[in-house]
Amino acid sequence: MNNLFDMTKKELQTFLVAQGMKKFRADQIFHYVYKENIFSWDEMVLLPKKDRQLLKDVLPIHFPEIVSRLDAPDGQTVKLLLQLADGETVETVLMMHDYGNSICVSSQVGCAVNCAFCASAKNGFVRNLSAGEMVAQLLAFRKYVTPELHSIVIMGTGEPLLNYDNVIRFMKLIHDKDTLYLGYRNMTLSTSGIVPKMYDLAKEGMPITLAVSLHAPNDALRRRIMPIAEKYPLEAVLQAARHYFDVTGRKVTFEYILIKGLTCTNACAKELARLLGGQNILVNAIPINDNYDVGLYRPDEKTMNEFVTYLQRHGVPVTLRREMGSKIQAACGQLRIKREKI
Ligand code: SF4
Repeated sequence: MNNLFDMTKKELQTFLVAQGMKKFRADQIFHYVYKENIFSWDEMVLLPKKDRQLLKDVLPIHFPEIVSRLDAPDGQTVKLLLQLADGETVETVLMMHDYGNSICVSSQVGCAVNCAFCASAKNGFVRNLSAGEMVAQLLAFRKYVTPELHSIVIMGTGEPLLNYDNVIRFMKLIHDKDTLYLGYRNMTLSTSGIVPKMYDLAKEGMPITLAVSLHAPNDALRRRIMPIAEKYPLEAVLQAARHYFDVTGRKVTFEYILIKGLTCTNACAKELARLLGGQNILVNAIPINDNYDVGLYRPDEKTMNEFVTYLQRHGVPVTLRREMGSKIQAACGQLRIKREKI
């Protein structure tokens, strides 16, 4: 099925001409969608009525519906659960930072990677999202919440590098000057470390930021919380990350989840400092939200601060992520899981 949000303007022109419509109608349609946030053929009143009627049949617009919306009490995070054309649902989160609004995009329905701390993996993998379904997550925020968009992070539900072609297409689409014209430097892709695809990404010529979920300083611990580490050992992941930096010149971010008594210990801090100290990288330390189902808990503030301070003193640039959205279940997958339980 054709999806308007999957198309470049050129592709839409070709499609319209094949339907007997004028090529320039694509300009009007793109203006409605990407400048005026209008997503209904009926409201695109500059199009002739007969064209609108035909388009309803040959190119129906499936704009995602909001199933639920959660606003954080501080007003800085909004989470939407969106329903897609086939009834599946995806989560997407808007975070309002000092430097601008950032949207966390989901790339799959469910996820096969099965990280121990992640709600998205609970019910397994369902399907890949199309590029258009990812574009529609951004458009939903523009329509329902705010038109201001500064950056995106592909860090929601799913492993983006296991939906490689659609994710690349999505980034190219929103970079296009006819759509959202978002700079590649304002895009971040987060991977659990799918090594061969990290090498492919380096070849794309798209200077996006690569974020790698490290989450543990050695293979044994990493395998306990990230089964994907069986397939892609730590050293291979680090080598692929170094290669990405060498080719693109873009500093790689390593995400590191802080779990009480497991990854946030003195021993882990020492090992991590040995692994990453003095390198041109950034570590983003993320406190886990308490997860009673799997018995993984957030460390206390003092322990987290000591962990971060140790790394800083040993040459590892690290930031402790400001909490956004933990009060509204903004960790990926939590809202979708909650709905499925109802
Ligand atoms: S953390 Fe990311 S890669 Fe891991 S299971 Fe969750 S969605 Fe998948």
